[in-house]
Amino acid sequence: MSRFTYARAHSVEEAVALLSDPNEKSVPLAGGTDLLVNIRKAPPTFTRVVDVRRVPEMRIIEVREAQLVIGAAVSYTELAESALVQRYATCLAQAARTVGGPAIANMGTLGGNIASAAPWADALPPLICLDAHAHLRSVEGARSLPVAELVLAPNQTRLRANELITHFTLPLPAPDVQSVFLKVGHRIAQTLSRANLAAAIGRDATGRIATARLVVGTIVPVAQRFEEVESLLIGQHPSPELFAEAAARAAEGLVRRVGRHWATEYDTRVLKALVVRALRATTAPSPTPEGV
Ligand SMILES: Cc1cc2nc3c(=O)[nH]c(=O)nc-3n(C[C@H](O)[C@H](O)[C@H](O)COP(=O)(O)OP(=O)(O)OC[C@H]3O[C@@H](n4cnc5c(N)ncnc54)[C@H](O)[C@@H]3O)c2cc1C
Repeated sequence: MSRFTYARAHSVEEAVALLSDPNEKSVPLAGGTDLLVNIRKAPPTFTRVVDVRRVPEMRIIEVREAQLVIGAAVSYTELAESALVQRYATCLAQAARTVGGPAIANMGTLGGNIASAAPWADALPPLICLDAHAHLRSVEGARSLPVAELVLAPNQTRLRANELITHFTLPLPAPDVQSVFLKVGHRIAQTLSRANLAAAIGRDATGRIATARLVVGTIVPVAQRFEEVESLLIGQHPSPELFAEAAARAAEGLVRRVGRHWATEYDTRVLKALVVRALRATTAPSPTPEGV
């Protein structure tokens, strides 16, 4: 039987030192909702887990120098309940509210979700939509990169062995920007995404769309912006016709990205509906809550 040991880190420095110990093959452990589930499916390839859940620097949610700073070990419950996240990263707070049941939401963390990089990761579209950067640390030093560039493929990231995500930074959105997260699953509640989407729309004084971000997840291998839809929206006044055109363009973009397959008809129908709902929500007088 495979065995591994457990070590708890009390600081980022201690965590990266433990992760670089040449005598062990160590991996970070946060909530364990992916890691501990996965070792039931296949024997672990590591010899030690380094618990980073209680590292103070990785648990912050604060505004610093016009950026929202969110520690990688912040749980979904903490994200959903944070007034700062609700205000400055609305779609991320909404996504957090849809993850798992209370037990998973209390344990699962933002950093674990991004490091796992599952196709259905619900935090990924909001972070890409909000231009988040991931801040990484190892004994070699610190670096940061956009979350959109961190994830390479399903379950594959640019994280180096023994590298830790310490926190994420998100530029504070302009006051006119509204964001939303939408998700479709196989069940009504506590379900993994079958498709998900985050959108952020800003409008100028005349009501025209001035900035647009639309990120699709799950039905594409890696969550990504649909820039052709964004450019269609910019400069336009919101209208049902514009939303329908955006939905059609998103559906075309999906087929262009992933080709046609057995689920294409369903996926394009779902995507069109999500795009229209997201655009309605982000151009409404006040944000509407997400639907699952
Ligand atoms: C019943 C159930 C329901 C779920 N529902 C959802 C859902 O609705 N939506 C969704 O997106 N996910 C869902 N998940 C998946 C899971 O909860 C999330 O992906 C969660 O965010 C993982 O975080 P964690 O802290 O538990 O990570 P862990 O399991 O501790 O770690 C996951 C991976 O990330 C690495 N890691 C963790 N923290 C860091 C870090 N700071 N830096 C570098 N690497 C790190 C670990 O080494 C490991 O490889 C569900 C899981 C379960 C079991």
